[in-house]
Amino acid sequence: MDSVKINTVTGSISPEDLGVTLVHEHMLFGFPGWEGDQTVAPFDRKSIVNNGVSTLKPLKTFGLKSVIDATPSDTGRNVEALKEISEKSEVNIICSTGYYHESEGACAYWKFRASLGDVSGEIYELFLKEISDGIMGTGIKAGVIKVGSSKGRITDYENLMFTAAAMAHKESGVPIITHTQDGTMGPEQAKLLVGMGVDPKRIQIGHMSDNVDLEYHKATMRHGVFTAWDRMGLQGLAGCPMDEERYAAIAELVKQGYVKQLLISHDSVITWLGRPLNIPSAAFPLIANWHPGHLFKNIIPALKQGGVSDEQIKTIIEDNPRRLFTGE
Ligand SMILES: [Zn+2]
Repeated sequence: MDSVKINTVTGSISPEDLGVTLVHEHMLFGFPGWEGDQTVAPFDRKSIVNNGVSTLKPLKTFGLKSVIDATPSDTGRNVEALKEISEKSEVNIICSTGYYHESEGACAYWKFRASLGDVSGEIYELFLKEISDGIMGTGIKAGVIKVGSSKGRITDYENLMFTAAAMAHKESGVPIITHTQDGTMGPEQAKLLVGMGVDPKRIQIGHMSDNVDLEYHKATMRHGVFTAWDRMGLQGLAGCPMDEERYAAIAELVKQGYVKQLLISHDSVITWLGRPLNIPSAAFPLIANWHPGHLFKNIIPALKQGGVSDEQIKTIIEDNPRRLFTGE
């Protein structure tokens, strides 16, 4: 464990310096295609940085020390903006290499190359270079690998990304974090990665909070992986369960002995790239708590009310994120 170093956007840190960690957030995010709308909605680094700093800095009083930014390369990742946010907020940010799932990612380039021959080695080379040398000449190194799957299936394109991610993990030891769609494929993702030789203790299966069926969770955790309740606050929309149901499910899983496999975050987007979202005003009350402070202000008190102890909360928000990186 002593030898493990974690890549952050400002340099490497020791696992003991990670502290309380939000394991899946986005300082900035844009669906592929946003770039073409910049005549109307140009990239504004200054407001991106200001928004990020004003969001993260106040959370230090609650003990927040680190954030994993789960934005892969095809959805607006900008590691220099992340670095500036980290320096000004004094919160560690760990950035991602990897690609988003097929239907919402930018898959044309690799799908075209893949039509001419196997490119898993090329993608592996890219992931590894972003981890060991840095991203696009910045010297800023990725600390996690992000991949994802579609609703109800892992497509050929996504399988290619999982394969390259597994290869890069085995070479670098860097954890793999995932996107699942609409509460599906958690067990299948875990099985696929573990079957390719990935250490299950270094896998974070994401968006598990989109499904509150405990059997689905247990079928995923059976593979030894972490499961991330990482869309807290994003409730009642797009098929997402309500937080009240999630609190009860988390408390029940803790009661049944799964505390060492649980993680919590929000998948919040601090700045959307492109034009502002047209969110119907009726949805505002539902997502009023969809922000990184929700954990400290509402989730922890609700879990305590549900019988989760302070020690168990520390396990979930501090020890488990560290163990994801160390494999301890
Ligand atoms: Zn996300």
